[in-house]
Amino acid sequence: MISQARKEKLIKICQELIRCPSVSGQEEKVAEAIKKNFQELGYDECYIDSYGNVIGHIKGNGNGKGKAILFDGHIDTVPVTDELKWTFAPFSGEISEGRIYGRGASDMKGQVSAMMAAAAYFAEDTGKDFNGDIYIAGVVHEEIFEGVAARKISDAISPDYVVIGESSELNLKIGQRGRAEIIIEVFGKPAHSANPEKGINSVYKMAKIIDKIQGLKPTVHKELGEGILVLTDIKSSPYPGASVVPEYCKATFDRRLLVGETKESVLAPIQKLLDEMMKEDSELNAKVSYAVGAEVCYTGETITGERFFPGWLFD
Ligand SMILES: [Zn+2]
Repeated sequence: MISQARKEKLIKICQELIRCPSVSGQEEKVAEAIKKNFQELGYDECYIDSYGNVIGHIKGNGNGKGKAILFDGHIDTVPVTDELKWTFAPFSGEISEGRIYGRGASDMKGQVSAMMAAAAYFAEDTGKDFNGDIYIAGVVHEEIFEGVAARKISDAISPDYVVIGESSELNLKIGQRGRAEIIIEVFGKPAHSANPEKGINSVYKMAKIIDKIQGLKPTVHKELGEGILVLTDIKSSPYPGASVVPEYCKATFDRRLLVGETKESVLAPIQKLLDEMMKEDSELNAKVSYAVGAEVCYTGETITGERFFPGWLFD
């Protein structure tokens, strides 16, 4: 049950978290604030892992073997670009007309606070008379590296069920398309732009690839829609290319992933297309791969991985 005192406690936690700025990679203050609140709320155990994720644990007193349920929310936020444009200061946690304002209030400090408080109140109300374990996790580095830091938590506690508190207009969402970042590189040959025929212009070659890629048929899933593939950026080298035929060109594609798609199955049609094009054009040298990301955590640890985050769907 939610009493007035419990409601006030929850509001206080949420305001406290909003008052700790926490852009990705700088979540230390908010993680410490969450840990302190886990302790005050009577969690059996709480700790911060090597990436800086903060985890609280409530153990049921039942003597049967129960399941482990994990309530998950990220504690990093996107940055504040212009504080002056905010009606309420972004790190004030100010309340106006029944709403708490601030950077991350709905993404996801509000939800993390609610899950922290709800689990503690449930434990109090039941006297922990249940089988199993409840975990609440505040995850770092979600905004720029979705899913990577969360895997460490799953590995550590092997949950049977996971509830993600991300905003969904209070609807229950049972699936999500995944995302991959695909890199296509073309290796050409530099030449002075006065004699372009002596070189291989990597951008001209890339233009042909981009054209052909748009003709690839997207994969389709009846609930998740299409496995869209779209160009998001392109770079050539040298840059600026003052009087030089560019020897290198790199294009990034964003690919939405459907359930069941694998690292191999996603690249296969692109690789096949490149193989065919290279067979027809002996000067074309192209390569496809996944982008690799590396981010430093506030703990000093680096997380790395290919940018491939699978889709999922439950019945
Ligand atoms: Zn979010």
